[in-house]
Order: sequence, then structure tokens, then C-alpha cells
Amino acid sequence: MGAQIEALRMLLQEISDIEAAGALLYWDQSTYMPIGGAKARARHMATLARLAHQRWVDPGLGELLEQLKALEQNLPFESLEASLIRVARRDHQRAIRIPPEFMETLNSHASQCYQVWREAKSAKDFSLVRPYLERTVELSRRLADFFPAWEHPADPLIDMADPGERVCSLSPLFSRLKEELVLLLRAVRERPSPEDSCLKGSFPEEAQLRFTLELVRAMGYDLERGRQDLAPHPFMIRVAGGDVRITTRVSQDHLAESLFSSIHEAGHALYEQGIPEELEGTPLAQGASAGIHESQSRLWENLVGRSLPFWKFFFPRLKEAFPESMAGVDLEEFFKAIHKVEPGCIRTEADEVTYNLHVIIRFELEMQLLEGSLAVKDLPEAWSEKYQENLGVKPADHKEGVLQDMHWFAGTVGGAFQCYTLGNLAAAQMFQKALKENPQIPLEMEQGNMRPLLEWLRSNVHSHGRKFEPAQLMERATGTPLRLEPYIEYLKSTYGAVYGIP
Ligand code: ZN
Repeated sequence: MGAQIEALRMLLQEISDIEAAGALLYWDQSTYMPIGGAKARARHMATLARLAHQRWVDPGLGELLEQLKALEQNLPFESLEASLIRVARRDHQRAIRIPPEFMETLNSHASQCYQVWREAKSAKDFSLVRPYLERTVELSRRLADFFPAWEHPADPLIDMADPGERVCSLSPLFSRLKEELVLLLRAVRERPSPEDSCLKGSFPEEAQLRFTLELVRAMGYDLERGRQDLAPHPFMIRVAGGDVRITTRVSQDHLAESLFSSIHEAGHALYEQGIPEELEGTPLAQGASAGIHESQSRLWENLVGRSLPFWKFFFPRLKEAFPESMAGVDLEEFFKAIHKVEPGCIRTEADEVTYNLHVIIRFELEMQLLEGSLAVKDLPEAWSEKYQENLGVKPADHKEGVLQDMHWFAGTVGGAFQCYTLGNLAAAQMFQKALKENPQIPLEMEQGNMRPLLEWLRSNVHSHGRKFEPAQLMERATGTPLRLEPYIEYLKSTYGAVYGIP
């Protein structure tokens, strides 16, 4: 058995190495690559993806996993070996369901669609990309059909990103959340809106980069095993456990952008840096799911990075970093500014109260597209109606509306948005539990010490890598499956206080 486990590890190590090369090419493409490299880079990355896929579907891997079944059954569920066999088998079985020719068709369609979407977005003209999106919907349905037991065509697509979740579990959760958010938003809108001019001014790029690095280091992000660069769409990427990179975006006249995107991406990076060395080179050296990954970034970005204890420590430092723009601003004013609620059309600029409404709108629309109850040609109109109904705003054009996010135009329709809301809910539930187990966390944070919180996350979330499915992980970490209540309580108490809602 020892030799077979060794053989499995070697096969998986090779896949992981190919994927690491792909990750590095992606990082380069998204940061420093000259534009002229685009065409060749797309081919390089497709070749690497194909090489990794060939290894995943290799019948030799299937046989090996079959032979290891007996060993797996004799080992504790959470042991490294049992988890490795279990998770590798799941990935192998998923990979062999999808014919390689279909993957090629989907990937090449997605990359064409993405190019056309960029043109359509800058021309603010949905009709340019409409036939491509129609094809994407068709391909997304075909992808679902390779997993024929589905109840809803979105189920297999959701399961790929957030294992265990389905339309029948998400729809009721999201409708309850929507009801609560609409009520909270109404209450907030009845109160005077805080002034946020202190976030707008002149903030030199250099100083922003220095300050955000100070923040992420204080969170525990290890710069010996990471780095921060600029990118138009900030992201985190793992090349290896010893090389977990983040990017940020700086706007010289708006401070919040770099602050919160750096904290967000560092939250993702802390997860990856916290995965134990012994999982390296295996499919366990990843987050449990897209939603759990997002819980880590959002926990730091919002529950920590917008909290009073955090800013009690960092606000004096912020004033030092930007002496001119921050002159005369006090902590209370700054704190209110970073909690300003303002319904708008753009998801990535949304505040915490409205953010999930943006996600739920997309989720509802993609369900309808996949069911066939909404035609692609009617999408812009349906989009606009939902924005007016839920947020009271109307997109001025397609760029501000249906064309704003790349998700549907660079992959499949279905499966890509739910993780953001799942992440918000999981973050609040984890944070509540961490504070219950260690009430010193906020007091330590006021002293600039993030260690106690990071330790809780390390031992309850990060150290498991991808050993557990999200529901198992939530149970183990917090004692219950994912719940709505901690998040609603958090929003109500935070925004109730800022807005003086009785
Ligand atoms: Zn994120």
C-alpha cells in the first residue's frame, strides 16, 4: 500500500506542477505581460490545462485509486492519506465525465466570447456579444448534462465551485436573505447618509502601497512567501505554499479601493499560506470551495477591516501615512465613511448592505437563462427591471448593466456568483464562533495584534486545506451548518449603530 500511495502522490505532484506553471503564467498575464504576448499566452495556458486534464483522466490513475479503496476504508476519515484518496477520486471521476473535445470547445468558445465581451463592454453594446452568450448558455446546459442526475441544470455547475450546494438549497436561503436586506436597506435609507469625503482626496500611489503592505503584514501575510503587485482586477494566486501572491488596485483620489482590495486579497492569501506543508503538491492544498475561500477574504475585509477595534489601532497610522488628506478627520468620521450605504449599479463598488442583492439578482437571472424561461435577447431588460425593483437604480447603459462582470462571458452561465454570498454568510458565522471561543480577539486587535484571530482560522479552517466539504468544515469549525442569522445579526448591529436605527 505504501508504494501505491507513493505512486498516487507522484502522479498528483506532476498535475500540481503543471497547474503551478499555469498559475504563474496567469499571474504574469494579469500584471506585467506586454499586450503583444496575449495570443501566445492563451495557447500556452491552454496547452498546460490540456496536459493537466490528460493526467486527471488517465485510466492508470483510476486503477490506482481503485486499488487504494481498501486502505482508505481502514484509515480515519480526516487522515491525510484517506483524504487524499477521497478527494483525488472525486476530481478524477468528475474529469472523466466530461469528454476532452467538449472541454476544448467550451474553452475556445469562452476565450472568444471574452474578447468580444471586452469590445461590447467598451462600446456599451450588448448586441455584439449576444450570439456568443446564447452559445454559452447552450454549452453550459450541455456541461450540466454530463452529470445527468441534476434536478436543476445549474446544480452541477454550482457543485463544481461549491460542493454540496444546489439550487434547492440556495434559492430559499437567498430569498430569506433578500427579504432581510430589502428591509434593512429601507431603514438605512430613511436615515441621513454619512459624509464620506474623507475617503476622497489626494492619496499618492506610493503611500497607498506602503500603507496597504503594512496592513496585510499586520494581518499575518508573510512577505517571504508572497508579494503584492498592481493589477486592474485584483486577485490572489497560489503558485506554491511558499509563493502566494496578491494584487491590488490603487486610485489616487479614492482611498477605499486599495485599502479594501488589499485586505480582501490578503484574506485569501492567509488561507493559502496556512495550508500545511504536508498537503503541498496534492489537490488538498487548496481552499475547501469558492465560498469558503471567499469567507476568508470577506472576514478580513469586512468583519475585521471595517471594525472599530481594527481602526483604533490603524487609524493613527493612516493619518501619518496621508497627513494632508487626513488632516482634521477623526476616527468616528472615518468609521462612518467606510460604512456608507448607497445603492448603485456596479457590484464591485457596492457596500456591504447592498452587495448581496447584486449577487442574488445575477443568481436569479442565470437560473432563468438555464431553465429557458428567460431568453438571452431579453436579458438586458430583465436585468434593468431587477435593479429597479431591488435596488431602486436603473443602469444608464449596458456597460453599467448586464456587461459589467466578466463571469458569464469567460466561462459558463451558472455557478460563478453564489460563492460571494455564501462567503459573506460563512464569514459572519465563523467570526461569531471565534469571538465566542476567544473573547480577547477584539482587545488584541486594538493593540494591533491579529494573531489570536489568525490562530483560530488556522486551526479551524486553513489547516484542513481541501480535506472536508464546505458543510463538513462549517460543522467542525462552528458547530452548525451554514446559517443566515449570524450575518443578519452582524449587519443589523453594525449598520443599526452607524445609522442610528432604533
Ligand atoms: Zn475574493
